[in-house]
Amino acid sequence: MDRDPSPWRIIITMRRSACNFDPLRAVGFLLVFFTAIPVARADWITREEDIMGTRCVVELWSDDAAKGEAGIASVFDDMKRIDRLMSTWKEDTEISEVNRDAGKHPVKISEELFRLLQTSVKYSELTRGAFDITYASVGYLYDFRRHIHPDQAAIAAALPGINFRHMILDEKSFTVSFSRPGMRIDLGGIAKGYSVDRGIEILQKQGFTRAMVNAGGDSRIIGDRFGKPWVIGVRDPDHEGKTFLRMPLTDTAFSTSGDYERYFDENGKRFHHIIDPKTGDSARKCRSVTIISGTATRTDALTKSVFVMGPEEGIKFINTLPDVDAVAVAPDGKVFYSKGLAPPAE
Ligand code: ADP
Ligand code: MG
Repeated sequence: MDRDPSPWRIIITMRRSACNFDPLRAVGFLLVFFTAIPVARADWITREEDIMGTRCVVELWSDDAAKGEAGIASVFDDMKRIDRLMSTWKEDTEISEVNRDAGKHPVKISEELFRLLQTSVKYSELTRGAFDITYASVGYLYDFRRHIHPDQAAIAAALPGINFRHMILDEKSFTVSFSRPGMRIDLGGIAKGYSVDRGIEILQKQGFTRAMVNAGGDSRIIGDRFGKPWVIGVRDPDHEGKTFLRMPLTDTAFSTSGDYERYFDENGKRFHHIIDPKTGDSARKCRSVTIISGTATRTDALTKSVFVMGPEEGIKFINTLPDVDAVAVAPDGKVFYSKGLAPPAE
């Protein structure tokens, strides 16, 4: 998975109810407090940790602080486990083994990784190849921190390796092989969403009913904030900390992909981490894409897809999926909304 040093880009704004100080009630509260020790205090708990090369955040409501802390720790532990399985930045992960050997012979992998590869192929089929984890056959030639991009000849040589149909998955043996030399895969565009869904599942199994799990651009929330929604801000592509849209949400997942996350500019051209599988070049028809749907695996995969398709074609595509909404920002700053979010006509 990718190194993404930038902090959390979806700004979650919490609106806690205003509290008026009442001395009589305060005395009463203190009396209750000291007579009812030990007290398991119910409260919101928020913790952050850097995992999978990005900032991860869990916030939940717990009637018992220790239980809440343990719940959050189990989510972070699972994210670390997924990173050990799926990071292309570490030599000893299953995915690195696949990239080393699947061009030579079928490589046996865990059922969990196998299922996520199958899910990735499903999104490649759904998006007619706009989402494609074999983008990495060219993608590995970029180094955004060192401002390196492949030239046209290098792209032309590696481009035939981008095609999900050349990744052969054998369900009977849980093996994967590549039918072309030089192929690579990278789950940077779906594994964080997957880890967020796992995190929510883990919390639900422990009985939590109000929580938010976030990993980089991918988030999912369960429940509300006691009668109020979670209010999610989508950042302006040109100004960190400035939002151009605020949405009230409950029980949903959402992801944002932007060209401002990992990039460098060269002669007025931006090279960034979302790659158009047809060209092997950075996708430049969008500045940012936000997707809202039921699971973070889905929203994560679909941000890249709309980004590559461009705002017009991308929003048209999203409008064919009844469970998905999207907001796409074009290079000229124009904002495109899917049917479910479109502002009323003026
Ligand atoms: P984040 O990792 O911060 O959530 P994104 O969701 O925008 O950011 O994912 C960007 C990553 O997606 C890239 O770093 C790369 O690993 C992967 N990617 C880039 N282009 C594609 C593509 N066309 N299809 C699938 N994955 C892609
Ligand atoms: Mg993502």
